[in-house]
Amino acid sequence: MVTQEDYEFAQQNPSFRQRFLDRIDLEDVGQYTKQVKYNPLAEEGEMIPTMRVRRSFGVRGGLIMPLNLGVIFKSTIEVYPSAFDRSFRPKLGDFLSVLIDHEGEHIRRGLTDPFLYIKASMILDEDEMIKLGMEEEIQIYQSQLTNVRKRNCSKRFIRGIEDRLNTYSGAIQFVDCVRPPHKLYKPYLSS
Ligand SMILES: [Zn+2]
Repeated sequence: MVTQEDYEFAQQNPSFRQRFLDRIDLEDVGQYTKQVKYNPLAEEGEMIPTMRVRRSFGVRGGLIMPLNLGVIFKSTIEVYPSAFDRSFRPKLGDFLSVLIDHEGEHIRRGLTDPFLYIKASMILDEDEMIKLGMEEEIQIYQSQLTNVRKRNCSKRFIRGIEDRLNTYSGAIQFVDCVRPPHKLYKPYLSS
């Protein structure tokens, strides 16, 4: 168990961050997770997703990212220095929402449907790949939002997720609009 004070201490003391991560109760995501690892060297820029509207804690690109996504083996979640950025005064709930409800959900989905990523790897069409990724993000943001009250997330954080959800929802419609008819397919994520 960790507290808001622990999180603030970890923000101010980088050497404490791994210990902070080790003490987090990952809830049911714990069974799928090998380790939550602090990576102080990660360049924030290298993980930035292609679509992003506003820089806001938690939904900022590359904050936390699952490795070995979709593999049968347990995953490692890497946490980057930006997850401890104090400039937006993030709450512990914001941090846990990203770690458990977002990245943890990516891991859970990969493990509960191991064929999902095999199917994804068989798609050669770039539009289909982009759409598949966006569909997953939309579903995860939606489920993340159902937990923000329980986590006592900040209003800024919740707005950030809603913005992100709207952006993805708009973008996925755009992909459908510009797609030539012969490229239409049934999204199997919803099947
Ligand atoms: Zn995601």
